[in-house]
Amino acid sequence: MPSLAVIGAGISGLICARTLQDHGLSVKVFEKSRGVGGRMSTRRTDDALHFDHGAQYFTARDALFRGYVKALQHEGVVAAWLGRIIVLQKGVTIDQNESTVRFVAVPGMNSICQHMATDLSIEYQTKVAPPRRLLGRWWLASEDGTELGAYDMVIISAPAPQTAQLLRDVPELAEQADRVEMSGCWAVMLALEESLALPFDAAFIHQSPLSWIARNNSKPNRSPEPETWILHASPEWSETNLERSAEQVAADLLEEFWRSIGTQPRAIKYITAHRWRFALPTSPLESRCLFDTGLQVGACGDWCGGPRVEGAFLSGAAVADRLLGL
Ligand SMILES: Cc1cc2nc3c(=O)[nH]c(=O)nc-3n(C[C@H](O)[C@H](O)[C@H](O)COP(=O)(O)OP(=O)(O)OC[C@H]3O[C@@H](n4cnc5c(N)ncnc54)[C@H](O)[C@@H]3O)c2cc1C
Repeated sequence: MPSLAVIGAGISGLICARTLQDHGLSVKVFEKSRGVGGRMSTRRTDDALHFDHGAQYFTARDALFRGYVKALQHEGVVAAWLGRIIVLQKGVTIDQNESTVRFVAVPGMNSICQHMATDLSIEYQTKVAPPRRLLGRWWLASEDGTELGAYDMVIISAPAPQTAQLLRDVPELAEQADRVEMSGCWAVMLALEESLALPFDAAFIHQSPLSWIARNNSKPNRSPEPETWILHASPEWSETNLERSAEQVAADLLEEFWRSIGTQPRAIKYITAHRWRFALPTSPLESRCLFDTGLQVGACGDWCGGPRVEGAFLSGAAVADRLLGL
């Protein structure tokens, strides 16, 4: 039975691993963090607060992804989010006619990835070093030098700049990954002592350091109390402020939040900020995935073929098809 190593347990790596395991391959997934989800993670605090601090929701336009989302809806892993979403500019509502159908995973954004990961063999807290090609196989080791075994095939599903480094031994593919730029994003997680009782659940924000605010517990199956908010800084503000401390960023974006919603500061129960260094690809590749048939190595992710959750899913599915020779 051919063996496959997948680096990264975000949605693209997991759908690839899932598909190939279901086709009888022996699959091993390596993930540097403590859980699945990548940029679809859900943060749980010591006080049992939950925040979707990465992807906020997703849309499903492609037939393959639509079918998958529908099946997940039946299984109770995905639900439509009927939040009231507006567009704000300098404290004024400039649009409230938002008709897009938005989906979220329940009870947290990482539930889809947890669902996909069922019975996959995943080694967490393992940051993989660039795989080496030796005697016709791929040899993996972690960055701390632990050997992780030899595999017939390897798929890398990390964000483009990290994938470019991991593909050091395959310069033709590394070069393509290296061409993709990704913008950063500061995310603030906020819990309030009392509800703000605003007439909307989320807003795109124009002409501000913030680009998006959302009441996390307006999404289905979230705990109703305390009121929790996610604030995302714009790509421009995030890039300029990327190296500042989380405390300074949280304070600045909180001030901007009150200004954007036109409310005096209120009592805060919890606040922290998270830096996403590689949040969104600004120039995704046209091809759905990278793959070298001779070397049996490939890469996938939202930076191939189309950004966001749907693009990442389709990229992982595409690289699995390439491995299966479809
Ligand atoms: C703040 C923010 C907001 C967003 N909002 C939306 C939204 O509203 N709608 C939407 O559709 N999309 C949104 N996105 C984008 C969406 O989250 C991504 O497109 C999608 O989750 C990418 O999935 P992926 O599998 O390609 O990559 P990732 O989710 O990044 O997965 C890659 C995984 O690889 C792991 N990894 C990296 N290097 C190594 C290594 N050396 N060894 C082991 N593991 C490694 C990482 O830890 C990670 O888990 C948002 C993203 C961010 C950050």
